[in-house]
This record gives sequence, structure tokens and C-alpha cells, in this order.
Amino acid sequence: IIIFDKVNKWYGNNFHVLRDIDLTVAKGERIVICGPSGSGKSTLIRCINRLEEHQQGRLVVDGIELADDVKAIDQVRKEVGMVFQQFNLFPHLTVLENLTLSPMWVGKMPKKEAEEKAMHQLNRVRIAEQAEKYPLQLSGGQQQRVAIARALCLKPKIMLFDEPTSALDPEMIKEVLDVMIAMADEGITMLCVTHEMGFAKAVADRVIFMDQGQIVEQNNPHDFFNNPQNERSKDFLSKIL
Ligand code: ATP
Ligand code: MG
Repeated sequence: IIIFDKVNKWYGNNFHVLRDIDLTVAKGERIVICGPSGSGKSTLIRCINRLEEHQQGRLVVDGIELADDVKAIDQVRKEVGMVFQQFNLFPHLTVLENLTLSPMWVGKMPKKEAEEKAMHQLNRVRIAEQAEKYPLQLSGGQQQRVAIARALCLKPKIMLFDEPTSALDPEMIKEVLDVMIAMADEGITMLCVTHEMGFAKAVADRVIFMDQGQIVEQNNPHDFFNNPQNERSKDFLSKIL
């Protein structure tokens, strides 16, 4: 469903942030991306919905080639949901309004239908009772679950997560990971930048290790964690496990 074919990206003229990325993601596959700070993990996943553009190579998402064609970019963005470290909710809108905004105004969905669908997603992340509250009245873990529900309202085929739990207090991490595990069980294609290795072991089909803009190693979680091959992955794992 996603193909990176020798993708290269630079920031400015000289900073080569992605180097010859070759990566094919199958429909329904669950991928965890890890690696040191600054290795290009966020940049890589942000290329998938064109929050960043690449300069060389081909990137195809659900059969749509990402280049300069604005229509193609819009189309891809409809299929790709994203959840960030910071929850990026609209503070002046209620939880329910955060979820219905885009379906109503971009998707032209009638209000009643948008609200029904939103409540369904809020139930899914077990937060329906907070629908009328404002984001800042919720805990970090609750806000992140709202952000996930909001992304799901747009029925994405692919979900991207960029360190969704790293801004959360420890006791809230599990409630967000549990929601993500439930999503994984439903078969949506997921790419998740995270250092939550328990999550990786529980749901990932594949763990990708990046360093200095390259995919240095990739394997199933069992072999990656128990028997990393590359010196840089070994070193990284010795620091985080
Ligand atoms: P972290 O674990 O800290 O989130 P990361 O692996 O996600 O790191 P990226 O955010 O993809 O790394 O950044 C890769 C490199 O590109 C870093 O050196 C960063 O400073 C640089 N970089 C990121 N965004 C920009 C930008 N908009 N302009 C210039 N350089 C950038
Ligand atoms: Mg990052």
C-alpha cells in the first residue's frame, strides 16, 4: 500500500535527511520505526502524507504517486490519518466538535450523521462521556485518544503515529497504547514511530531501525530485539531496553 523507491530528501541544500529509502508496506501491515533522535523518523512518515516533500525517488501511496500534483496529494491525505506527539486539538472546540469539523466542512457530511460517526469513534477509544468537554479539561491520555478518534472519523486506510505517547505521564501511556493495539487488531495499516518496545513486541509485524537518514536494519520484533545484527541497532537497544 506504500512504496518508497530510492527516496532521498534534503532540508535546504546540504542537509541530506533521507538517504535512499527503499520500503514497501503491505496493506494491513503494522510497522514500528525506531532509532536515535535526529535519524529522520518523523521526516520519513511525514513524507507519506506530504507534510514533507522528497526530492528524489518515487513514493507511491495506495496507488497514487506523490509528486507535485495537488489533486494526488489531496487524495492521499484523505486516506492517511496522522497522530502527533502533541495532540493538536482545537482548544476552543468541544471534543465532539473537534471530531465533526472536518467531516462536515471538508466532507460535506450532515451534522447529525457526523455526530453519530464521531460518537461511534469516541466509544471506540472509550471516551464518549467526555464529548461535550473542551480539550484542556481532559488529561493528556484522554486528549490523545480524542486525537486518535478524530483521525479515525476520516476513515483512513493508513494511520501514522509520531511518538504518540512520549508527551504523556507514565500512567496514561497504557490507555493510549491499548487503543492502538485494538486498532491494530482491526487490520488498519499502521506506521508508528515509538520507543515503546512492549507495544512493538505486541503488535508490530516489522520493526525498522533508522540511523542518519537510512534504514539500517529491519526485522520481525522477536529477532530484532533478541538478535540485532547491526552495531548501531545493538548500541541503540542497549541504551533503551
Ligand atoms: P526525534 O527522535 O528527535 O523526533 P527524528 O528521527 O524524528 O528525531 P527528524 O525530526 O526526522 O528526526 O529530523 C531529522 C533531522 O532533520 C534532524 O537533524 C533535524 O534537526 C532535521 N530537521 C527536521 N526538520 C527540519 C526542517 N524543517 N528544516 C531543517 N532541518 C530539519
Ligand atoms: Mg521525530
